[in-house]
Amino acid sequence: DRARQLRQSYQCYLHGQDERHLRHLSLVRDLQHAASNGEFSLRYQPQVSALTGRALGMEALLRWDHPRLGRIPPDEFIALAERSGLIHQLTQWVIDTGCQQLARWSEAGLNVRLGVNISAMDLQQPGLIKRVERALDRHGLRGECLCIELTESALMESPEMGARKLQSLRAMGVELAIDDYGTGYSSLAQLKRMPVQELKIDKSFVMQLVKGSEDDVIVSSTIELAHHLGLSVVAEGVEDQTVADHLAEQGCHMLQGFLISRPMTAEAATEWLRSRVGDGIRDAANEELR
Ligand code: C2E
Ligand code: MG
Ligand code: MG
Ligand code: MG
Repeated sequence: DRARQLRQSYQCYLHGQDERHLRHLSLVRDLQHAASNGEFSLRYQPQVSALTGRALGMEALLRWDHPRLGRIPPDEFIALAERSGLIHQLTQWVIDTGCQQLARWSEAGLNVRLGVNISAMDLQQPGLIKRVERALDRHGLRGECLCIELTESALMESPEMGARKLQSLRAMGVELAIDDYGTGYSSLAQLKRMPVQELKIDKSFVMQLVKGSEDDVIVSSTIELAHHLGLSVVAEGVEDQTVADHLAEQGCHMLQGFLISRPMTAEAATEWLRSRVGDGIRDAANEELR
């Protein structure tokens, strides 16, 4: 009967909740030792000039290979790290490892800028600025080599303190980008007060971009807005050539996406950079190498 059915499905739901909860608890426990166990690694995804195809930067993307559960997606473990306070440790690891890689590239004559994602909680932590400064120093890098990517919501969580911290990073030469632009609720007035240099249009508007569509209106007006505010603009999630051409026509400065390359291991990214010095956009996308 109906009541029994309801009871059963509710129990199923509870059971599902329990399982998710247990998975999360055990992931948080394991996350504490992931860095020292060498379970983290970075993948690097190129950002190229929309006009010339020249490699301008790489975005560092964190991967966690759990010894028992395999690869855990960042969208799952970053949220857990934020909720459990482990995010600062992770961010520290990413900044250190990324800067080390940048130094290697620079020694090899491969000069690119590295984009690093940080979360809202990092911005609220007192040690962030010092940590970035120390990482740059340790690897003999200029601040201009680093671009910190923050989401709109991270910026808006504490606009006053956020703006102050971002000013300190700017003073070191570090560039600042708003990530996933268009998915948050920031107002233009608020954005204008933030010392950012770059907008990254969220991939949800870019991946299936069709000329004349609603996405196109959003993307084109964002590019225009960026031009007016003197910001540089990156489209993420560029998966095909037609979209890439259209974005270039609209005046988008940089492209990032599977069309250009999937995120790559440090070794593959180094090869990619070597083979691409001065090249145009290559249309064969790489496999994301484990
Ligand atoms: P994000 O910063 O917006 O990074 C872009 C995401 O889009 C990456 O997913 C990338 O692999 C994916 N992507 C790039 N081009 C394409 C494309 O053409 N098509 C499609 N379908 N996807 C594309 P990923 O690596 O899974 O990372 C997801 C999110 O996890 C990131 O979004 C970022 O918010 C977060 N994340 C990753 N690494 C870190 C980190 O080191 N620290 C923090 N705080 N967050 C991180
Ligand atoms: Mg990002
Ligand atoms: Mg993004
Ligand atoms: Mg994203």
